[in-house]
Amino acid sequence: MPDPVVVLIEDEPQIRKFLRATLEGHGYRLFEATSGADGVVEVGSRQPDVVIVDLGLPDMDGLDVIRRVREWTDVPVIVLSARGGERDKVTALDAGADDYVGKPFGAGELLARIRVALRHTAGASHEAADAVFQVDALRVDLLRRQVLVADREIHLTPIEYRLLTTLIHHAGKVVTHQQVLREVWGPSHTEQAHYVRVYMAHLRQKLEAEPARPRYLLTEPGVGYRLAAE
Ligand code: CA
Repeated sequence: MPDPVVVLIEDEPQIRKFLRATLEGHGYRLFEATSGADGVVEVGSRQPDVVIVDLGLPDMDGLDVIRRVREWTDVPVIVLSARGGERDKVTALDAGADDYVGKPFGAGELLARIRVALRHTAGASHEAADAVFQVDALRVDLLRRQVLVADREIHLTPIEYRLLTTLIHHAGKVVTHQQVLREVWGPSHTEQAHYVRVYMAHLRQKLEAEPARPRYLLTEPGVGYRLAAE
């Protein structure tokens, strides 16, 4: 398999330098753009496996870069931003980003997010092979609709199961409260944020050894949830 291609759209030279060393050191081919307009062209011409985009660019907002790119491709987009606000994260995810890494960030964290993004791309073409989701002691057989924790079968209600499979579908990535509501309860229930909280608490009671300190069903404060992927 050829080295995965990454397009990085970032105007700060130090961050580009850091990412170049990190990514090339881990076998990625990196193409860089220092403005939003050049970034859109790079994404169009390099056919990357992952795009990393900074939100604060000199010529346009990174959110607009994501919206432009989303007009023609589903390539995984990871946002880098110093804007720590929860609303900014939600806006970026709703604009079509797949994940969000706040600055400052560590190389290990970003590499982990890229691996998750690549796994999703690879899994998209052979979904049948992905019928079993496993991380640590949690094992979900999506064909048999069977949920096991440390080899013990766990019985879930239909809504709990749908909530879990929605998170599995996005495993490793942040899912906003709105997305969860839309995918589990349907588009007419997007105001009922408390449903998600209540059912997430049920799921944690059933799946987590310590529901107050979850290993699998992680909270992204003010944004949503993330199912641990590794
Ligand atoms: Ca910037």
